[in-house]
Amino acid sequence: MLQNKNLHFDSKCVHSGISEYEFGPVVPPIYQTSTFKFESAEHGASLFKGEAEGYIYTRMKNPTIEAMENSIAELEGGHKALGCASGMAAISTVFTALLKAGDHVVCSKSVYGPTLTLLQSVLSKFNIESTFVDTEATEQIKQAIKPNTRIVYVESPANPMISITDIDAAAKLAHNNKALLVVDNTFMSPALQQPFKLGADVVLHSMTKFLNGHADVVAGIIITKDEEMYLNMRKTLNQLGGVIDPFNSFLVHRGLKTLSIRMQRHCENAMLIAEYLEKHPKIKWVRYPGLKSHPGYNVGLKQHAGHGGMISFELNGGFKAGETVMNNVKLCQLAVSLGGVETLIQHPASMTHLSMGAEARKSAGITEGLVRLSVGIENANDIISDLEQALSKTS
Ligand SMILES: *Cc1c(COP(=O)(O)O)cnc(C)c1O
Repeated sequence: MLQNKNLHFDSKCVHSGISEYEFGPVVPPIYQTSTFKFESAEHGASLFKGEAEGYIYTRMKNPTIEAMENSIAELEGGHKALGCASGMAAISTVFTALLKAGDHVVCSKSVYGPTLTLLQSVLSKFNIESTFVDTEATEQIKQAIKPNTRIVYVESPANPMISITDIDAAAKLAHNNKALLVVDNTFMSPALQQPFKLGADVVLHSMTKFLNGHADVVAGIIITKDEEMYLNMRKTLNQLGGVIDPFNSFLVHRGLKTLSIRMQRHCENAMLIAEYLEKHPKIKWVRYPGLKSHPGYNVGLKQHAGHGGMISFELNGGFKAGETVMNNVKLCQLAVSLGGVETLIQHPASMTHLSMGAEARKSAGITEGLVRLSVGIENANDIISDLEQALSKTS
């Protein structure tokens, strides 16, 4: 394999994880097989005993999956990585591997919805307790930590306010209590933020988003810092069974090659659009970590190399204006998810959070005119023109 240590990040995106394969292909072949032949009874035995290098069964290990995992481990500056069937498979594997009955988790309030539900409704059944705090305010993490806190779990930036958590400060608080800091790095990708450098113990992603980047795969990844943690995760993933498949691994690995240039364009576009929106008379406020008005602006400068592609904003016209914008955008696609090359737009009050009802939305901080934008890599002027014509239809 190429020695990548001295390469720059964008070169690593192109070359990392690639080994030598039969016939000399430039990209890893898709080993679309569930199982691998043993040469003899003795060979099978030595593979199972871990004495021989090789493959047994795809849930355990597969060369196509391994190539993608090696690439991401290198990009994140971690030890090894584990490809999962979805971001949620990665998250549930991490919690299952690290927690036992009686443990406590301190988690960001503005964490990805199903992560919150997993802690609140599933892990609680196994006597694992969680406290949800506003991790933007570091002292709230400190106050929530108890003697049995085993994990501090954060996302930065996080939905719906694109809020920034000081990862370095969160790591120190976790470590003072012998707890681990787990960071969901989905919104930034290793091109913009490398949580291991800030003290994280485990990093995970929904690869469905920026890592794959093309809105055609659902997948997740866990990156560990050392071999002991890796072996624990591997055992747990093998038992829970939420592994990625070879074809999706191949697609993600292909997506990684352009990660660096995609993230650069996401950031450039989002900055221009955030500035445009902030000046717009029909918009009450804009949250983008690259704007000086963002409360986490200074923390962001310290910990990420670019401000990402996610923007949220509030329409003066509330619910009705939100519906009008949704029904009039042409280039921006009305869809949940994020991190793809195409710009996606979403109005939580009339879409993902409609069934909650206005009262529940209010207490969850989902305002009626809140719009979330995942800025794609189109020409920024085209995205702005589309938003302009849709906003002009609102009263
Ligand atoms: C989408 C997402 C997840 C879940 O990932 P899936 O691939 O949909 O399971 C987790 N965390 C964040 C921040 C996400 O955006």
